[in-house]
Amino acid sequence: MSADLHADLLTIDTHVDIPWPPGADFFAAGPRNVDLPKLRAGRVGAVCFAAYVPQGKRDEAGNKAAQDRGLAMLEAIAAMAGRQGETVLARKAADIEAAHKAGLVAIIPAVENGTALGGDLSLLDRFAAHGVRYMTLTHNGHNALADAAIPLRDLGDNTAEHGGLSALGRQAVGRMNQLGMLVDVSHLAKSAMLQAADLSATPILATHSCVRALCDHPRNLDDEQLDVLRRIGGLIQITMVPGFLRPKARAEALSVRDIADHIDYVAQRIGIAHVGIGSDFDGGGGVSGFMDASSAPALTAELVRRGYDDAALRSIWGGNFLRLLRQAEAVAGSSINIGLDGVTRLQPNQ
Ligand SMILES: [Zn+2]
Repeated sequence: MSADLHADLLTIDTHVDIPWPPGADFFAAGPRNVDLPKLRAGRVGAVCFAAYVPQGKRDEAGNKAAQDRGLAMLEAIAAMAGRQGETVLARKAADIEAAHKAGLVAIIPAVENGTALGGDLSLLDRFAAHGVRYMTLTHNGHNALADAAIPLRDLGDNTAEHGGLSALGRQAVGRMNQLGMLVDVSHLAKSAMLQAADLSATPILATHSCVRALCDHPRNLDDEQLDVLRRIGGLIQITMVPGFLRPKARAEALSVRDIADHIDYVAQRIGIAHVGIGSDFDGGGGVSGFMDASSAPALTAELVRRGYDDAALRSIWGGNFLRLLRQAEAVAGSSINIGLDGVTRLQPNQ
């Protein structure tokens, strides 16, 4: 019964990695957690594929390499999205819904790690031209935009380089608002996350994080952060990285019940409107019984078992994320001033 229900849902996974350097064929069944046959089997309607740029040195060569890699990965994502009758590049919320109705898998490009800007905000416009709908401001390691939850000592990171967002990071948030690009706070230091929540004209989201009250890991959000998400209308997309679900756990020791525990916690504390799913497949995500995209119905079945009704499942599996995309589109269609202090001042259209 829940298989039928699942088949009818528009399901969106908000964080999946792509192979790099390019290798596995997305259109054929292979060893990865996500490929087109697995998405079809799991009735996953849309995926945010991340152009992930690891944190490196922030010198001239490092900045150039980060920019080149980010743009090349976005080209690779565009190639995955361009198979007629199979996939489509979704630039707007309406495109995702239209793809679902047409039986196509919608692909939503994203950038993971603002270091891909190489310190140059004009790259944001190029990312937007590729259809990028969110950028994760940092990965592990501080960058030019913000402090990360996990500093990289090898790169000489201090505990807190910027005390949250840098001046450039504040400018980046404002420009992302203008471009309709969501601000992803997964990987951010708490200080940076709280500042981004206050600054952004569009509600922020964590595309792949879990609940710190259930698993004390720096990548997870604590109760204060969850309460902020409720206040501003933001989102936490529960991820499937074993060590974020349960301390030091391995995938085999976990199941969809552990994912549902984190969803339950968020739903009970701040409401169903603020939670979703971002697997981090092919980036470390996966639990026993849900090791690849083909098993997505297993999570729906567990949520049904716990009493989530049709409307709740629609919200969790995609409706909440679509709401944020639409808010971002509305903000992008407005006139926004970014002050020299990086504060965004929104002036709605006349
Ligand atoms: Zn990540």
